[in-house]
Amino acid sequence: MNDSHPAASDLENVQVPGNPSGTTTAATDSTDAVPAAPAAPAAPATPAVLAVPQADRSRPEVTPEDLEVLQEQLGRPARGVVGIAARCVCGRPLVVHTAPRLPDGTPFPTTYYLTSPGAVAGASTLEANSVMKEMSERLTQDEELAAAYARAHEHYLAARESLGHVEEIAGISAGGMPVRVKCLHVLVGHALAAGPGVNPLGDEALVMISGSWRADRCTC
Ligand SMILES: [Zn+2]
Repeated sequence: MNDSHPAASDLENVQVPGNPSGTTTAATDSTDAVPAAPAAPAAPATPAVLAVPQADRSRPEVTPEDLEVLQEQLGRPARGVVGIAARCVCGRPLVVHTAPRLPDGTPFPTTYYLTSPGAVAGASTLEANSVMKEMSERLTQDEELAAAYARAHEHYLAARESLGHVEEIAGISAGGMPVRVKCLHVLVGHALAAGPGVNPLGDEALVMISGSWRADRCTC
């Protein structure tokens, strides 16, 4: 008889870890979409974040084929490649994870280097249409945006620092971060490599170019 009480309280404890069968998968793996779980809105992501087309960030290892594609994309051999930070759904590299110092000793601040010709063209079009000026102005007026952009800067520096310290570029990220927008290719590369919600202006740029190019639909 007394056994039923400990059993009941045990059940309560068990239910917590027992429940995630549905919720955890929805929270950690939102790539598959449409998990019809009405009770669990899981991940605290904003609608804006969910709307950003995502790249495949699951295969950072560099293959000889990757290096061939990179050479095609860049028109020269890629230098200082430490990984593929983002891929198209077809598997081709979109963003090269690059060492903070190139083999010839040159400091290299652009840790996430955008190589996808379609994405490069999309970013160039935005740049030609005063998007950087508008974004830079918004950074001076929108505190929330400015704070998120400053966090993106810190994320960028931390990612680079994890590859090694290079004194010449210490504290300097890329693309105009943390207070200006000077290169959308950098912000787009960062957004693709880091995933939605890290670089707000990179995310915005990805949404803006999504009519002509997006990481989740191959146009390679
Ligand atoms: Zn592709």
